[in-house]
Amino acid sequence: MITVPVVAEKEMVRRGVVLVLSSPSGAGKSTLTQALMKRAEGLNLSISVTTRARRGSEIDGVHYHFISQREFDGMRDNKELLEWAEVHGNCYGTPRQPVEEALARGQDILFDIDWQGALQAREAMPNDVASVFVLPPSAAELRHRLERRAEDAPEIIVRRLRNAAVEIARWTEYDYVVVNDDLDRCYNEIRSILEAERLRRARRVAIGEFADRLAIELGQTES
Ligand code: 5GP
Repeated sequence: MITVPVVAEKEMVRRGVVLVLSSPSGAGKSTLTQALMKRAEGLNLSISVTTRARRGSEIDGVHYHFISQREFDGMRDNKELLEWAEVHGNCYGTPRQPVEEALARGQDILFDIDWQGALQAREAMPNDVASVFVLPPSAAELRHRLERRAEDAPEIIVRRLRNAAVEIARWTEYDYVVVNDDLDRCYNEIRSILEAERLRRARRVAIGEFADRLAIELGQTES
């Protein structure tokens, strides 16, 4: 009889997933990000640097690292940013080092970035990125959500709505698209994407070795 070793999934080292979430401001991406960070095990949030002024509800080092334009330019010029973009007149970027460390440890990392950053991230790490575009249920709902948030001045809201049109036009460049008309359903869809991406063959180096060993062992079966 052939004995096949039972392989504990925990011992199966795999490369981490870079889960990229993009959407226009107000489509509920921050709420989805918070839910994922709270409920999805093994997922780390990439904390971006930004030159934008801190909103009242935000904490430095938790929501963003708030830095000066000079500091930002320095990081960009020293290639310390994996991707960066100017969004609504401010600069945003993803620090490279924590991402590389997380991936090497086999941990997954969530990026909440715009379409320009999503494109750069995919180019920089084609085998690591799974990108998801979150659509709002309607234009009216997007406007309503931005106004309800009431953290931005009216002219900034207008700017964000115009920018939403540009952002949404990029939805075809993503691997997945979800509509945030129901938070729970949308959350579950993103969880399913994450789970499927975790199981991708290309990420599961150790499982591949296990499969090869199994094939050899079974191939040696005596009649
Ligand atoms: P907010 O100012 O509302 O926090 O973010 C504005 C936009 O900038 C959002 O679409 C957000 O996803 C994007 N963003 C935040 N951090 C980054 C980043 O590191 N890189 C890029 N490319 N976009 C980012």
